[in-house]
Amino acid sequence: MKSRQEVPLWRDVPKESWNDWHWQVAHRITDVETLRLVVSLSDDEASVLEESLHRLRMAITPYYACLIDGDDPRCPIRMQAIPTLAEVHTSPSDFIDPLQEDHYSPVPGLTHRYPDRVILLVTDQCALYCRHCTRRRFAGETDRPLPRKTLIGCLDYLRRTPEVRDVLVTGGDPLLLDDGNLDWILGELRAIPHLEIIRLGTRVPAVLPMRVTADLCRMLARHHPLWLNVHFNHPKEVTAEAAQALERLADAGIPLGNQSVLLKGVNDCPYLFRELNQQLLRHRVRPYYIYQCDLSQGIEHFRTSVGKGVEIIEYLRGHTSGMAVPTFVVDAPGGGGKIPVMPNYVVSRSDRKVLLRNFEGVITTYTEPDDNRSICHGRCSDICARQKSLSQEGLIPLLEGEKLALEPTFLGRRERKRRWS
Ligand SMILES: *Cc1c(COP(=O)(O)O)cnc(C)c1O
Ligand code: SF4
Repeated sequence: MKSRQEVPLWRDVPKESWNDWHWQVAHRITDVETLRLVVSLSDDEASVLEESLHRLRMAITPYYACLIDGDDPRCPIRMQAIPTLAEVHTSPSDFIDPLQEDHYSPVPGLTHRYPDRVILLVTDQCALYCRHCTRRRFAGETDRPLPRKTLIGCLDYLRRTPEVRDVLVTGGDPLLLDDGNLDWILGELRAIPHLEIIRLGTRVPAVLPMRVTADLCRMLARHHPLWLNVHFNHPKEVTAEAAQALERLADAGIPLGNQSVLLKGVNDCPYLFRELNQQLLRHRVRPYYIYQCDLSQGIEHFRTSVGKGVEIIEYLRGHTSGMAVPTFVVDAPGGGGKIPVMPNYVVSRSDRKVLLRNFEGVITTYTEPDDNRSICHGRCSDICARQKSLSQEGLIPLLEGEKLALEPTFLGRRERKRRWS
């Protein structure tokens, strides 16, 4: 990590400017010439880099640029911020929109995929364009907030969709909106009675911590219950400045979670994740998800095996605080949502016993009760009856005995039978 005084380009920048998020955004590194003033690039690298800029724009905050180890071509900070030629490569497994976020979008700017919650994309602007971005079809397209008109369309959809109780405000990065604009959006959402919680997803504490001002936190605190998920991928991102941003948010009473992306060469190491997650807990951030790298176009070079994620959980669960163990998920291509993948802890079972293994490799038995029938099953009270009436998707109808089987749309034996009759 360099101080700004060590970079000739920023040597004379006053401290007040450096700590002003507007200055940081306005002075992001967006072209190769400026980048060369900050990190060493060979002529080859520089020319190649130009080419990848057409895919997802480059923008690196001076703050984050100072975290780059200029002499290490494999620096994990560098790999997340500086494009490479690998991004131009399209793999046969790539998709423009692997999670079909646009397909499951009832109005522009909003994706409704799960029964009771939606994501609201309020801007396509980010402080920094992460080279591993899954939403690269959209991020940085205009580098601006969404038009008010589009947002109003989203708010209308939410008003007429009472089953939505949880809105995840994301983008882009919602904290790139100015306080007034974000205040307006949060206020409009809060005014919708069936919206129980609002969540924000942001990378700002990691890449532009000076954005988290006292004013911002005061404003956010007016919209509780508010939850916020940050995006740290490497312990090097947890700087004193980032720590201060997290502290301010936590002091505003906002529960903090972290969503990491598993990235080859950046954080594909179980010990690194143990360190990262322990550091996050010290700053009151609860690790929430580790994402398997999506099948977005141009990021194949960042993908690991799914086994890597399982391995990471194996090295965490039991070995450190349970609070430091996130859920490892694969976001299903085709819009199927997040699917957790875990080490196997159930070794075997009989009608009375479950054989389990723990993190130490000890195999133990849990004896189940003689009478294991449950008493309540959506019948015992109005509380459960109400929940039961809300969502009955997926495997629940099978468990409820309302359906015998789930069958694929094409079932050979059904087609054959149709031909017989
Ligand atoms: C991730 C995501 C959510 C939120 O998922 P949780 O598991 O509740 O955090 C909601 N909608 C979409 C489209 C998502 O991708
Ligand atoms: S902050 Fe999020 S949306 Fe923006 S570039 Fe990074 S990963 Fe993509």
